[in-house]
Amino acid sequence: MNMIFKRELFNPQEVKDMYPISQEAALAKKENDRQIRDVLRGVSDKLILVIGPCSADREDAVLDYIGRLRPVQEKVKDKIVIIPRIYTNKPRTTGAGYKGMLHQPNPIANPDIIKGVLSIRRMHMKAINDFGFSCADEMLYPENHHFLSDLISYVAVGARSVEDQQHRLTASGLDVPVGMKNPTSGDLSVMMNSIRAAQGSHIFIYRNWEVQSEGNPFAHAILRGYVDNYGKTHPNYHYEDLMTLARMYSEATSLRNPAVIVDCNHANSDKRYLEQIRIAKEVLHSTRHSDDVYRLVKGLMIESYIEDGSQSLGGCVYGKSITDPCLGWEKTERLIYEIADLR
Ligand code: PEP
Ligand code: MN
Repeated sequence: MNMIFKRELFNPQEVKDMYPISQEAALAKKENDRQIRDVLRGVSDKLILVIGPCSADREDAVLDYIGRLRPVQEKVKDKIVIIPRIYTNKPRTTGAGYKGMLHQPNPIANPDIIKGVLSIRRMHMKAINDFGFSCADEMLYPENHHFLSDLISYVAVGARSVEDQQHRLTASGLDVPVGMKNPTSGDLSVMMNSIRAAQGSHIFIYRNWEVQSEGNPFAHAILRGYVDNYGKTHPNYHYEDLMTLARMYSEATSLRNPAVIVDCNHANSDKRYLEQIRIAKEVLHSTRHSDDVYRLVKGLMIESYIEDGSQSLGGCVYGKSITDPCLGWEKTERLIYEIADLR
C-alpha cells in the first residue's frame, strides 16, 4: 500500500462521550427535526432556508453569523424554518485546496484531523447550545457522519458524490433529511436514482460492520445548476426546470415526500453571489404559477456569511468566505425578510 498509517483516530462514541450533548440541546434538535420533517411531508407550508457560509472556516465568525440568524428566525418563524450551514468538509474539484475544518482546523496550517474532529463537534454543539440551531453539513465522507449524528438536522450529498454507492446507502440509514444534489453534469436521472436508493432499505458495510438501513423517506432533490461538455455553466432553477422535476417525481410513484431545495449559488448563479437574491425571488415567483411547483419547492439554499464575496486562503478578513463567494450579512438579512414576505 502506498500510504502511511499516521495515527489512529478516536471513534465517534469516544468523541461523543468527550463532548456529550445536553438534554436541552437534544430537545432543541428534536423540535427542529420535527419542523423540518413537517415541511418535507407537506404538513407545514413553511419554507426551509439552508443558509450560511460555503465553508465553516473559523468558529468565531461562523458562530457570530449563526447568532445573527437567531433573532431573524424568531421574526420569520411563521413562514421560514432556518437551517444554518456549518459545512466542515469541502469537496475539491482537483483535490487541491482547503479541505474544510475537519482536515484543517487552521486553514493555513498543515492538516490535523484529530484536532479537526474535535473542532467540528465543538462548533456544531455551540450552535445548538448557544442559539438553538441544529445545522446542516455536507456528508462528504459517509463514515464520519456519526461524529455529528446527534447534533445535525440536515445532510447534503454534494454534486460530486451523488452517484456514489456508499453515499447513497449511508443516506438510506440516516434519521435526518438528506438532500441529493444534481451531479455537476446536470443529469437529473442520476439525482432521482440517488433519491430512490436512499429511500430504500439496504444491507451493506459501514464502519467495518454489516448493517441494515431502514430507508430514508426524507431523501429529496437539490437543484444546483450544472456544467456542460464545454465547461459552460447552466442554471436549473427556472420554472421549466421545476416543472420537469415535478413531472419526474410524478412518474417515480414509489418515491415518498417529493421535494426540492433550490441551491441559489454554485452553477445556478455561476458563483455570482449577488444573483442569489434574484434567483431566490424568481423561484418563489414560480411557486405561484403552478400548484405542482408550489408543492414541490420546499426550500432554498443560500451561501451567505458576514462579508460579501470571497478572499483567497490566508486572507484575514473576518467573516469572508475562503471558498465560494457568499452574500454578506446586511443583504442576507434583508433577503430573508423579503423571502418571508413573498411566501
Ligand atoms: C456546497 O454546497 O458548498 C457545495 C460544494 O456544493 P456542490 O456539491 O453543489 O458543488
Ligand atoms: Mn459552496
